[in-house]
Amino acid sequence: MNKLRKIISYYKPYKKTFCFNMLFTLINSLVAVSLPVLCHYVTSQVINFEKDKAISTIYFIIFLIISLIILKFFCNHYCFYKGNMLATNIEIDIKKELFEHFQNQDFSFFDERTTGKLMTSITNDAFNISNVIKKVPEVILETITKYTGVFLFLFFSNYVLASILLLTFAFLFVFMWKFLYKIQKINSESREVFSDLVSDLEENLSGIRVVKSFTNEDLSINKFSSNNNKYSEIKRRMYKVESLFYPGLVSFIVSWSPIVTTIGTILVIRESLTTSQIVTFLLCVSILDWPLWDIVHLNDFLKESIVGFNRIEQILKIKPKIHDCSNPISLGNTKGSIEFKNVCFKYETAEKKIFNNLNLKINPGEYVALVGPSGTGKSTLCNLIPRFYDVIDGEILIDGVNIKNIKIKNLRRNIGFVHQESILFSGTIYENISYGNPSASRETVIESSKKAYAHDFITEFPDGYDTHIGRNGVKLSGGQKQRIAISRVFLKDPPILIFDEATSSLDNESEKIIQKSMEQLAKNRTTIVIAHRLSTIRNAERIIVLDNGEIVEEGTHEYLIQNNGPYKKLYDLM
Ligand code: ADP
Repeated sequence: MNKLRKIISYYKPYKKTFCFNMLFTLINSLVAVSLPVLCHYVTSQVINFEKDKAISTIYFIIFLIISLIILKFFCNHYCFYKGNMLATNIEIDIKKELFEHFQNQDFSFFDERTTGKLMTSITNDAFNISNVIKKVPEVILETITKYTGVFLFLFFSNYVLASILLLTFAFLFVFMWKFLYKIQKINSESREVFSDLVSDLEENLSGIRVVKSFTNEDLSINKFSSNNNKYSEIKRRMYKVESLFYPGLVSFIVSWSPIVTTIGTILVIRESLTTSQIVTFLLCVSILDWPLWDIVHLNDFLKESIVGFNRIEQILKIKPKIHDCSNPISLGNTKGSIEFKNVCFKYETAEKKIFNNLNLKINPGEYVALVGPSGTGKSTLCNLIPRFYDVIDGEILIDGVNIKNIKIKNLRRNIGFVHQESILFSGTIYENISYGNPSASRETVIESSKKAYAHDFITEFPDGYDTHIGRNGVKLSGGQKQRIAISRVFLKDPPILIFDEATSSLDNESEKIIQKSMEQLAKNRTTIVIAHRLSTIRNAERIIVLDNGEIVEEGTHEYLIQNNGPYKKLYDLM
């Protein structure tokens, strides 16, 4: 019931177009049925002994037929044009609804789903669903109208011949039912194999450098061949079934005329049918094959659409768990103190808590470094501050306010993140920097890039700030990308900064420049740095050593070295 309500809700904004589409489909089908009936009246004039009257009746019917054909043309035109636009609009609405839904989801939503699957919903599922929900009512209405109209007329004309024809249709529907089910099953298997084939192909081509450096080309070729063979096998099964179905369907369709002519002639001899009625029967059955082909085409993507619809329904049901409280406040002039009070946290999918009663206080403007073995929770701790994940117990305070009481957008505007792998979007360098503050002037954007030591390399490009950087900045080096990411944060100008291993994937030269721009950016801001290389955080005002989600040591570099504890051990390992 809910599903039906959801489908109806897609039509709602286009009620008028939908109703007209249905009305014109009905008129179109009625005209199709009426044409053989009118032809029947033409041929029956043969036995009209008043020749002049017969000719004028024929002229009148010809006029009627031409008018109906013109009407049919306009109905078809409307159904094709407006009907397809209706499907496109519904497709766009589904895509928009999904995209907005994704934008509002928490990190955990994306942790549990692959990007590929989410993209399939927006691209394929939305298209299939819109197409099916446009087509199904049309095909049902067309089939019912044509078959009811034709058989009513046939039974009215001659019930013996009509019953024989009806019997062949009963066989035809059983035949179609059996085969269409089989075809649907193999079709969906084939789509799965095909999507595996494409994703393997994508993985191979994007990782071609690794394949070549390990000289594993043969391994890749074998894997690809095995997928290709699976695809070929499934296609073989499909064509085997289809090679029985399509010729079978065509045989049924072509048998109608011989059935009508032979049995009709016998009935004419027995004087229970006229030759003009045989012509009418032939014309009538000739309009019955269209709905069958429509059903066959619909069947091709019906199952896929139902699966897609269920998938989208499940996704749309998921509400973000992290949202604003009922009366959220906005921080004014944020000083930038951060406090973790008895914080407990566990990822939804994990069994063990990462933090159990973690306490930590960071003063406004303090430069703090987080160190510790991999997997101890350094990134997790930072991700809790902008509420990418919510604590399960305890609280995090910024300037003494529980972050759950702060408007999420306002909270996140106060925090600047620089990650290990800077994500840039395709477009120009200018567009990527101004992403930090889309309303900033060009001068401010250039100012920010100067502070991040990015201006010089940017102006060396022939197009300067208007250089297109390609997908995810492929045309830039790691260090250049990172400097653009830092310029972006300069432009955002947040009072709190988080650098999550921002320099760990860079060479020494780039690291030094990034280090300089990071220090420049950190001035007068509360800064948390997660560092892989301990040499980069020697100057931190405080170094916090985390192990297994607990703070095991803290102090300055000199103090911790003297203390000869876990930090010293980590330092010696470098
Ligand atoms: P660090 O930054 O110290 O290397 P992380 O904070 O990234 O450590 O990870 C801490 C632990 O949490 C690790 O065991 C990691 O596997 C786990 N973890 C990290 N992110 C997720 C996630 N999104 N879902 C489930 N577990 C995660």
